[in-house]
Amino acid sequence: MSEAISLQDSVQFLRGVGPARAHEFASLGIRTIGDLIEHFPFRHEHRPKSQPIGTLSELGAPATLIGELRRVRERKLPDKHVIHAEIIDATGRCFLRWFNSPYLAERLGNGVIVRVSGRLEAVGDWAGMTNPQTHIFAPEADPFSQDKDQYEPIYPATGKLSSQDIRRALRPILHAAADRVEEILPEELRTRRRLPPRRTAILRIHEPTSADDAEHARRRLAYDEFLVMQLAMRMRRRSQDRRKDTPEITTTPRIDERIRARLPFALTPGQDEAVRVIRADMTSPQPMNRLLQGDVGCGKTVVALYAALTTVANGAQAAILVPTEILARQHYEKTSAFLAGSQVRVVLLTGELSASARRDALERIRRGEADLVIGTHALIEGDVRFRRLALIVIDEQHRFGVAQRHALRGKGPAPHTLVMTATPIPRSLAMTVFGDLDVTVIPDRPPGRRPVATSLVPPSQQERAWRDVRERLFAGEQAFIVYPLVEESESLPLKSATQELERLSAGPLSGLALGVVHGRMRSEEKDRVMTDFRDGRIRALLATTVIEVGVDVPEATMMIVEHAERFGISQLHQLRGRIGRGDRPAWCLLMTGSDAPSETALARLRVLCETDDGFRIAEEDLRLRGPGELLGTRQHGLPVFKVADVGRDLDLLQQSRDDAVRVLDGDPELSHPEHDALRRCLLAQYADALGYVDVG
Ligand code: ADP
Ligand code: MG
Repeated sequence: MSEAISLQDSVQFLRGVGPARAHEFASLGIRTIGDLIEHFPFRHEHRPKSQPIGTLSELGAPATLIGELRRVRERKLPDKHVIHAEIIDATGRCFLRWFNSPYLAERLGNGVIVRVSGRLEAVGDWAGMTNPQTHIFAPEADPFSQDKDQYEPIYPATGKLSSQDIRRALRPILHAAADRVEEILPEELRTRRRLPPRRTAILRIHEPTSADDAEHARRRLAYDEFLVMQLAMRMRRRSQDRRKDTPEITTTPRIDERIRARLPFALTPGQDEAVRVIRADMTSPQPMNRLLQGDVGCGKTVVALYAALTTVANGAQAAILVPTEILARQHYEKTSAFLAGSQVRVVLLTGELSASARRDALERIRRGEADLVIGTHALIEGDVRFRRLALIVIDEQHRFGVAQRHALRGKGPAPHTLVMTATPIPRSLAMTVFGDLDVTVIPDRPPGRRPVATSLVPPSQQERAWRDVRERLFAGEQAFIVYPLVEESESLPLKSATQELERLSAGPLSGLALGVVHGRMRSEEKDRVMTDFRDGRIRALLATTVIEVGVDVPEATMMIVEHAERFGISQLHQLRGRIGRGDRPAWCLLMTGSDAPSETALARLRVLCETDDGFRIAEEDLRLRGPGELLGTRQHGLPVFKVADVGRDLDLLQQSRDDAVRVLDGDPELSHPEHDALRRCLLAQYADALGYVDVG
């Protein structure tokens, strides 16, 4: 029968599956046997070899006991069913209990020999194992014949389909199916990296004999995931590079001089270097595809503006896409101020323009009468057409999805693209998410910046802290006060921020002019509040995270974050970057909530008090919370891996990147027979992302 098995067979025909179960499997993406063996466990539960009961002492550690049951009692309560028993051997005894396992009751009885695996726990004056994994031996069986360390795979499961159900379906066919698995790596690569064959790795991850064994298998499979992704990204990039219709943008010394004369300050060395690289990129007939990274406040906007102005000086159009209305207006106003009296025509395009203003803006963009367009998502819409779009800048790119980036890029023949991010993305992650981008980092900051004194304020010290804040506000300083978004939806914090406004103005901050800004406000309202704050008519601004994104109010000296434990530390670092831009010392108060945050949450926050280095903070965030949290969600373009972990498998990621480059150098289309399996694997996973790429 194992001869007959095919990876294309439906799981429906496996023993114990059937049509209804098959439906559940399908909800996990498992339709075929091939899918099933590639449904990898996310961890393994260690069931150690048995130990004498008398040696059991450590609470919480996994343990296995073999012995005879005594004093078995069954209790049926209206809402639950409990079996109590003791297990004994020559060295001691241990209490056991099973909740809601009536089917066990018939088989457990005094004198029965069992093997139980679980963790010793203490509940009140009770110490023993609850719901241990239980094996009942037949009277004549030797309970020690199979006694060894076991590693049970724990699978991603659903409410109706347990990890055990998956294991039961897989176990009988695992070996036969694994035999059918193709090797996707060329032999030379596999041996050079000392990786086990793919089929062995698949077998081992489902049935490891040791923790090391499982980890080796996982790493091989993680390497494959990384390699395939790196290949896909690189192929996409290469296909873009082949397009030659990109406008060449040259920056003559005269253009350079004119742009710099417009700026109110000299560029920092980091900004200068970024400008140099970008100029070189745009002179080439291949589209620029660059990620500009820099800690919050390092001055990325002016670099983008430089790129935009040199584009305009070359007779082409530039577009800057930003995530929020407030930011679009801020950029628009600042840029217009820089350009006052010049011939550059700047246009603002947001979702809140009136119909006629929008029509007018679109017309100017289409006719080429708008040189520089600054806008929100409204820029991406289908009716926005450019006459000669040569540069797109995407600010705060983590707020946009890959699809949106592509949509904007589609508005010019092959425009140069500059994406900017204020969440410093660790190199490892940048490589995964932006494998197809070149990366430039601005390492310095404009002169005169002060580090922000950051402290953690537990509830017991908050009253005192508010008194200090009050004093400073009366002395002429200004503060941001930020509340977490309860959900991604912005309607909830509206309530909390407004309630807080009442609480603060009735209490700690009475007599001070306060304002609220949140995502649900109309843009004129927001603008009014922001302007009042910028001009100092509002002393403290209560806000949801909208201010996280780029807003520049140099006078503000205090950043107060409520429920700081609910924010990611990178996000907090962003918030903190909003202050400390003027010449007065700046303070960041991280207020923790009354529902005591965990020790890990506090440890995270302490990192912020210790360092001001956004990259270090991001690395820490990546380590503590994983890439999804750091970047937002899946839609932000992060590939989803089954077993690879960007934080943990950095070495593999780097290797796979080098290997992808080598493989494609020798075989750009993966058309050699030895890359056949690899190509098919890549197409199966990344066909959509590759889209227009001709790899078949
Ligand atoms: P970010 O990189 O976080 O987007 P911005 O571009 O908003 O930072 O710049 C932060 C502030 O620093 C702005 O007020 C900007 O005008 C100012 N700035 C930028 N570059 C310089 C510079 N070279 N010298 C002085 N101030 C600068
Ligand atoms: Mg910015």
